[in-house]
Amino acid sequence: MTEPAQRDPEPIESTRPIPRENGRPGPAPDGEIPALDLEQLLEKAIVVDLPLTVRFRGVTRREAVLLPGPRGWGEFAPFLEYDDAEAAAWWRACLEAAYLGFPAPLRSEIPVNATVPAVAPERVPAVLGGYGEDIVAVKVKVAERGQGVEEDEARVAAVRAALPEARIRVDANQGWTVDQAVSALRRLSRYDLEYAEQPAPGVDGLYAVREALHRDGVTVPIAADESVRKAEDPLAVARAGAADLIVVKVAPLGGVRRALSVVEQAGLPAVVSSALDTSVGLSAGVALAASLPELPYACGLGTGALLARDVTEAPLKPEHGKLPVRDYGPGSLEVRGLVVDDARRTWWLDRVRRVHALLEPGPGSGPEPGQQPLEWR
Ligand SMILES: [Mg+2]
Repeated sequence: MTEPAQRDPEPIESTRPIPRENGRPGPAPDGEIPALDLEQLLEKAIVVDLPLTVRFRGVTRREAVLLPGPRGWGEFAPFLEYDDAEAAAWWRACLEAAYLGFPAPLRSEIPVNATVPAVAPERVPAVLGGYGEDIVAVKVKVAERGQGVEEDEARVAAVRAALPEARIRVDANQGWTVDQAVSALRRLSRYDLEYAEQPAPGVDGLYAVREALHRDGVTVPIAADESVRKAEDPLAVARAGAADLIVVKVAPLGGVRRALSVVEQAGLPAVVSSALDTSVGLSAGVALAASLPELPYACGLGTGALLARDVTEAPLKPEHGKLPVRDYGPGSLEVRGLVVDDARRTWWLDRVRRVHALLEPGPGSGPEPGQQPLEWR
């Protein structure tokens, strides 16, 4: 186990042990952040605009608010189209990183997967080449709009041919109907799939696919992604027995502690994934993966490779299929040439003000809003 890296602006205090009850990790301590003067806070915030190496989710740039706090930097980067209610969880995660820090790590490195987008099979070797050597797991995008299962199979076959030993998982991003998913996974199962991520929409859809495959004797485990992070109730999928594992992301779930709690309550294995974060946001994902009691699958935290520039000179990028458990590196963030203009800064800080108001106690619930600690559990 390596020592936790230094965080900026103050040393990380992540050596607090996770209290254990019945051998399982309980909630981390200090689950409350102090009352905040938001305007003072925002004066210190930095808003950056990062170029991507590829088009992703239809965009080629990624904007983020970086917030310094006593425990380090937090990141607030909900996608532009998200409404305030959805973005509020991302703000909560940002405040957690800045004001509470993270639970103690239980491991020193995190295996991560390579990702193959919905490209033609002949492009697969080049895509995999971008991830260097020692790829242990590959996530292959399937069910792309405008493509059929033939294209999916050709792509998966190309990955299997290039990496006979790697674990291969497919991610449909809920792009199939239940029937399409069952038939496609029956076909793709011959490539020895590690699991299929969100093959169909909704908890009911996942349940139906999983049951049908089970009936047919097709052993492809089902992972829930959108049904966890986009759901009103992230535990519904586990209660329904609709998945074999869950994909968890720190920001949409409102922070590392909340994500840990979801995994614990779900009682299912978890894969930690990122949301095209800067190294600041990625370090929260790394902290979550490092503090899970069990980590049976490679994580989707290798997305730092998709940023043409990052906010640190020591970006969290995978090497030999793994990420070291560390923060975004010592010293100050390196944001020269990345800071947005005044208009974009104003847009982002207004967004923060709106979502911050959603976290505060409602009127009539006690002291003036902002005068008591934010509800944190
Ligand atoms: Mg997914």
